[in-house]
Amino acid sequence: MSPADVVVALDVGGTGMKCALVRADGVVLHTERHPTDAGRGPDAVVDTVLGVAEGLAGKARADGLDPVAVGIAVPGVIDEERGIAVWSANVGFRDVPLRDLAHERLGLPTALGHDVRAGGLAEARLGAGREAGHVLFVAIGTGIAAAHVVDGTAATGAHGAAGEIGHILVRPGGPRCGCGRPGCLEAVSSASAIGRRYSELAAVPATAAEVADRAAAGEPLAVDVWREAVEALADGLATGQALYDVEAVVLGGGLTRAGARLLDPLRAALHERMTFHREPRLVAAALGDEAGCLGAALLALDSLEK
Ligand SMILES: [Zn+2]
Repeated sequence: MSPADVVVALDVGGTGMKCALVRADGVVLHTERHPTDAGRGPDAVVDTVLGVAEGLAGKARADGLDPVAVGIAVPGVIDEERGIAVWSANVGFRDVPLRDLAHERLGLPTALGHDVRAGGLAEARLGAGREAGHVLFVAIGTGIAAAHVVDGTAATGAHGAAGEIGHILVRPGGPRCGCGRPGCLEAVSSASAIGRRYSELAAVPATAAEVADRAAAGEPLAVDVWREAVEALADGLATGQALYDVEAVVLGGGLTRAGARLLDPLRAALHERMTFHREPRLVAAALGDEAGCLGAALLALDSLEK
């Protein structure tokens, strides 16, 4: 590839899109953010995604660069093989052949990926998991999802749904999960679940970040809610380690802004749960909310090598 070659990368979320022009060596030359306005319906969102991608390719050419491929990351269930966004509640996609649509509109080879898997790919190759061959990236925000990356490739699963560790059953009969079943990890330990649980018990609204602050200040109710969430998360990660046997678990997403208040007790709780398994290194993600976009760029670059 020539030094002027760039890929157009988009990470499409329910509220916004993070977009970039990225060189083959991973250097980001330009970034943009755009609203998704998912409420407008899937056709309008697809049109915006393609329009933004087209705009970025045009910007690249105007800057004397050569756009060679497009990478798009989307949440939900993604069939990466066929380039179809099978189901994405946040964005309103149902069986959208986004890869072919982008290819037709831009005339460039396009890769479609899952947002968390793309983020995990970027963290494993360029971020906090750089030194490790086997990485589990876990994003904890409104939900909990993960990506298992081995030697720079994220496993997709047979149906595009690998890594849904948010739906590991950790508390049978516990709080009802968005998927319909009670007691999933996500229903106990996601940022929204922590805020919801505390708000119910305290009868005042609070976010997970506020619960972390109050727990650190020693407020008994916040201490309990935080501890329950950390314990359940350790149960989920221990199951993850039993399945994947990784060197590093990289934690991303909004909840990790709690820093040591999350990582220290979680590390201790995970340590307690290890019997013969080797304990993974537990680290905070390094790339922030750009990870998904960088991962989309990596998917685009990888697709050129195939
Ligand atoms: Zn669930």
